[in-house]
Amino acid sequence: MALLTQKTINKVLKFEGITLHKGKIAKMKILPSAPNTGINFKRVDLKENNIIPANFYNVKNATLCTTLMNEVGICVSTVEHLMAAFYGLGVDNALVEIDQDEVPIMDGSSKNFVESIEAVGLKESETPIKLIKILNKVTVKDGSKFISIEPSKTSLEIDFEIKFENELIGTQRNYVSVYEDDLKNILSSRTFCLYEDIEKLKKMNLAKGGSLDNAIVVKDSEILNNEKLRNKKEFVNHKILDCMGDLYLSGYKIIGKVTSSQGGHKLTNEVIRKVFSDNKNFTIFELKEKTIPHSYINRKALKSIA
Ligand SMILES: [Zn+2]
Repeated sequence: MALLTQKTINKVLKFEGITLHKGKIAKMKILPSAPNTGINFKRVDLKENNIIPANFYNVKNATLCTTLMNEVGICVSTVEHLMAAFYGLGVDNALVEIDQDEVPIMDGSSKNFVESIEAVGLKESETPIKLIKILNKVTVKDGSKFISIEPSKTSLEIDFEIKFENELIGTQRNYVSVYEDDLKNILSSRTFCLYEDIEKLKKMNLAKGGSLDNAIVVKDSEILNNEKLRNKKEFVNHKILDCMGDLYLSGYKIIGKVTSSQGGHKLTNEVIRKVFSDNKNFTIFELKEKTIPHSYINRKALKSIA
């Protein structure tokens, strides 16, 4: 399979599961889609104006999860884990039909999406993939939190750090080269929260569908789930997963180096907006396979997410 042509999924995929924030059961289908159409969501519970392109301009809200909204105000939220699976597996084009306003949370990671996509495989087109290469360093800060993106030679590199006062989570940092490294640990890392935050979230009418089946819950130095950590750096690895998903809303595969301390959905969206606000910050190109190293697209990863 050529590494550098656009791909979609081979067969329709179906998912059903609870949504994290509203706690409703969502039915979702992922359908193959033509080259250059990108990733689009379709709210099948609505009759018209129901297409929501997965694009950073459509990010309406990035508090706790990423919510997309189209030009007439139709929304779909918690798209980031599915977007991370698409990025990690090299899915360029797909239509995601959903009968709710939120993507089901599944196990809190991208694992179910990855396994299902891998089971049906990808369909290759003749159309070259699109990349953006970062040319200038762009930074967004919010107090001690920051995210920056700067030029990189051949990959999307993500260097991410979290700092929590909680003793079990504490400070964790990890680095991945998205097109070269094995992403298994990243894409199977679950979302997490502190036990003491659960009440606050429920009062905000959020996390109604949250449970030990779809989030790691940390109370002091203890994990309340029966399933303990899937990998040593599961907390920061989930943040990298989120970052990948949010970056893929750029509509392109990115060649650049992202560095973040305590970043999240909001900062990632802001840094993409800042990159695209000045066309000196990036260049867009379509790749001809001969001209570039294989490391552009990650293929040894994701052979098996256990
Ligand atoms: Zn997440």
